[in-house]
Amino acid sequence: MLHTKAQETAHSAVTWCKSLGGKLPPTDLVGRIGRTGCHGRHKGNIERDCQTVINTFGKRFGATISTAPIRMWNPKKSRIEVKNLPLIFPDDFASALWARSPQLFRKMLLGDGNVREYWEHCRNFCDWFRSHPSYNHPNNWDNMVPMSLYGDDVQTFRNSECGAMSIVAWSSDLSTGNSFKSRYFLITAFSEYEECAYTFNDLMSEISKRIIMMVTPKMAREKQYPWLKGDYSFMLSSLQGDLKWVNHTYGNLFDYRSNDFCGYCMCKKRHDVIGMTLGDFTASALHASTTRVYRHEDLVNRSPA
Ligand SMILES: [Zn+2]
Repeated sequence: MLHTKAQETAHSAVTWCKSLGGKLPPTDLVGRIGRTGCHGRHKGNIERDCQTVINTFGKRFGATISTAPIRMWNPKKSRIEVKNLPLIFPDDFASALWARSPQLFRKMLLGDGNVREYWEHCRNFCDWFRSHPSYNHPNNWDNMVPMSLYGDDVQTFRNSECGAMSIVAWSSDLSTGNSFKSRYFLITAFSEYEECAYTFNDLMSEISKRIIMMVTPKMAREKQYPWLKGDYSFMLSSLQGDLKWVNHTYGNLFDYRSNDFCGYCMCKKRHDVIGMTLGDFTASALHASTTRVYRHEDLVNRSPA
């Protein structure tokens, strides 16, 4: 596995280099990161310099960086404290995207596919969509963004010490054809050792406020979101991420480790009737004819306020 990964990386590096004719423009991000190790007196500064480069580069996008009071664990004082955590709210990010260009906004959020076809598919096959308010407004389907929240933990290194960071981001279900870096938009990141029992709910109540404004037509008009000029709208359509992380933070989801593991049908790991178990994988298995029904109202009732 590892050597194919290395080959892929080497191949894309060569392709990228060729596309630039072998010469990097002085402002190129990769070039600037590459140069951080080449001068300076102390080796230890490379990491700091690299972070500065990424930081200044990221800020050029122009999205508003807000802060919100979030309860977090202070390991030095062994107590929970309120910390102002930096966040890029999805509506601020989308506004900055629109300011860059409406074409970029569309490409990043709706990809190159047929948007109406996607919603018509949802109309035909998805219970959750049929009970959603947007179902009654098919005129909007050409420009409606299926918004998705994303969460995962990633291994990180600082001064060669390893630790885990929680990442909260958002995406669009129609951006799957875009490259990885233009699919997931960061909302915030924090060290897991700073997380306490309240952190995630505090964070989500701040983020939900903004998402509610994005998806509620009346509120969106009051906020005068720029994408309304292009008749765009948003709706929350899915949650994605690492299953373990999503289950740990959202709770109450179907857990692949439990007996009642399947979110699609009523299949169980252990059941008195063998046809209802995972062991029966024939097409005529009893569980194959069962389905779970999801309704928009159920999701709303289960979400934290
Ligand atoms: Zn199933």
